[in-house]
Amino acid sequence: MEFLPFEKAYEIVMNSAFETETETISFTCCLSRVLKADIISDMDMPPFNKATVDGFACRRVDLGAELELIEVIPAGNQPQKRVSEYQCSKIMTGAAIPEGADMVFMVEDSSVLTSGKVKFAGSSSKNNISPRGEDIRSGDIILEKGRFVKPQDIALMAMAGCTSVKVNKQPVVSVISSGNELVEPSDKPGLSQIRNTNSYQLMAQIERAGALGRYLGIVPDDEALTYSIIRQAISQSDVVLITGGVSMGDFDFVPSVLEKAGVKILFSRINIQPGKPTTFGLHEKALVFGLPGNPVSSFIQFELLVRPLLCKMTGYQWNPVILNLPMEDSYSRKTVDRRALVPVVITKEGKVSPVEYHGSAHISAFSRATGIISLPEGKKSVERGEIVSVRQI
Ligand code: AMP
Ligand code: MG
Repeated sequence: MEFLPFEKAYEIVMNSAFETETETISFTCCLSRVLKADIISDMDMPPFNKATVDGFACRRVDLGAELELIEVIPAGNQPQKRVSEYQCSKIMTGAAIPEGADMVFMVEDSSVLTSGKVKFAGSSSKNNISPRGEDIRSGDIILEKGRFVKPQDIALMAMAGCTSVKVNKQPVVSVISSGNELVEPSDKPGLSQIRNTNSYQLMAQIERAGALGRYLGIVPDDEALTYSIIRQAISQSDVVLITGGVSMGDFDFVPSVLEKAGVKILFSRINIQPGKPTTFGLHEKALVFGLPGNPVSSFIQFELLVRPLLCKMTGYQWNPVILNLPMEDSYSRKTVDRRALVPVVITKEGKVSPVEYHGSAHISAFSRATGIISLPEGKKSVERGEIVSVRQI
């Protein structure tokens, strides 16, 4: 059987991506969605010369003189009076600067004299004015097509009055776990049974990637049942993830069932650890992954292959966060025939330390990991102090 280099598998998956359709939704619902069109500001920000502190608006040349108070300007009110020589207006943060004034000195730097006049009592003062259009100009593109929407972006949409937003539809991803030994988390496993962890981990990964997960349940190691759930999944989703049943055991018949269901298998082995039996195929209605049964392998293959695919399908050019940091100690492995992905933590000192784990079923160790490092084929060890690229997970 052919063991595909990881880069080749990645290329095959990414070349299979199709873009989801467009929909228009409320800006309040578009967190973690991807913009299908640029968003343009319909106004300058700030829209007027704005006071950035509570204080007194005056002419800088008059600073130090006793100033006549001519007006109080709350935020939201249009100033009514021009500030002339030896005059000032009391002004609140966010209010428009009155004509004639070229600065605002802070309340904290002022003293009000018994005469009612106001005097600057500080040693120096900034202008404390944010000029019209300083942040944004009307007509500026404030958010670009392809953007993965963050909470701060929603503030920009609100600012620009952009209440309906064009986005890509979320890819619908079906999740199935296969295995006679599996029970649901709410059940107590019997002898020789374990709880299904993969499906719930995958559902969370799908959500984090901005896609829509649909959990279809556990399927026992039975060809006919596996066939029917796979057919169902394909008919109602863009991407299908089935975990388990892709290894070489007597009951691992997911790949053959996929073929029977009309899936054209493009690869079924990657030269990587963990995740060697990762399988990928095309159906005219959906892209299908057979992910390894072990939870760590399933997690890692989702991050490496499925997440970039889901992002591409929504028009988002996602790049994982990668930090280049030194190893705390040396690390070596026994065999070098495959690319290895090693879970690591970053220490308080900013050094990289592999988590000690017993392999790809050891989820308690893996949950401590905050990143993974990659050792290519042929690389046996990394030395203490060597700079490695840590991919955040
Ligand atoms: P398999 O790929 O079906 O041979 O499974 C490999 C290993 O992963 C076995 O130890 C399974 O019990 C375990 N496994 C398979 N599916 C799951 C799952 N959904 N949750 C947790 N462990 C699983
Ligand atoms: Mg199994």
